[in-house]
Amino acid sequence: MKRRKFLKNSSLTTVGIVSASALASCKTENKPQETVMASTKPIKPIVVCTWNFGNATSKAWDVLRKGGNALDAVEQGVMVEEADETNETVGKGGRPDRDGNVTLDACIMDKDGNCGSVVYLQNIVHPVSVARKVMEETPHILLAGKGAEKFAYEQGFKKEDLLTESTRKQYQEWLKTSKYETTINIENHDTIGMLAIDENGDIAGACTTSGMAYKVAGRVGDSPIIGAGLYVDNEVGGATATGVGEEVIRTVGSFLIVELMRQGKSPQEACEEGVKRIMKKNEGREDFQIGFLAINKNGETGGYCVHPGFTYREYSENGHENREVKSFYN
Ligand code: ASP
Repeated sequence: MKRRKFLKNSSLTTVGIVSASALASCKTENKPQETVMASTKPIKPIVVCTWNFGNATSKAWDVLRKGGNALDAVEQGVMVEEADETNETVGKGGRPDRDGNVTLDACIMDKDGNCGSVVYLQNIVHPVSVARKVMEETPHILLAGKGAEKFAYEQGFKKEDLLTESTRKQYQEWLKTSKYETTINIENHDTIGMLAIDENGDIAGACTTSGMAYKVAGRVGDSPIIGAGLYVDNEVGGATATGVGEEVIRTVGSFLIVELMRQGKSPQEACEEGVKRIMKKNEGREDFQIGFLAINKNGETGGYCVHPGFTYREYSENGHENREVKSFYN
């Protein structure tokens, strides 16, 4: 059964792993929510993505420029990084877990609040496209592990070895000490989270990662969790995250940022508040990085992070730019 039809027939029985607060907000939908984002300006297409993923952003921009919709733009944009074997934090060529397996997490969300997600997916280069299939072809939101992989094959995805010569060698090296530590801003965490607005003013987002390098087998971070690594509300805006996923999950970071924008904060202010919320729970801790990126319905963007070094890429008809963001610690 197609997702939309199923949802019409089923009220809120499809729970998946949408965050509790995201669901809580769905349940209040009969109460009018104050939305402050009513735009008076004409909305222009725009795409932003975490870090300096220029090729991915320009691919998404190409889709938008030709009149394509935001959902296609973010999917096709992040696919560029999933296929890039030299990117060791996303898709093929992503670093493995401590058992030597590359396990991928991704999600996607559209203007109508539909979403799809896959976690702990192996042997498939494009988890974001599998997530989109989950969203469009099943009554579910999130598929995991072997089930997600089986579903991907049924949908025509091909099996492929995701380890490359380089990541295999690095893993062999890592085994000598098996030391697990996150390194701020270094290639250990470079999830791509992308948000786009199309010419109709509709917003969509996608997020995809191989997660923390050498993670415990079975570990899933924030990136594929709707509300944590990504959230889109077409009335308000969207947000996405990168960095230590455990901290983002604890505060349901992306959902929090969108709700802060709903209450009137700019994307910049909302991202700052999101990071501060995390830091409050981690007083004095300096050993991790988080970067948030947000866009509102007017196409205004903002970002904030724990440590300097996080940037985001923006592409619109004004051209493209890699933007440094302010940080909690300097
Ligand atoms: N957020 C991702 C995770 O925790 C990793 C990252 O963005 O660095 O899996």
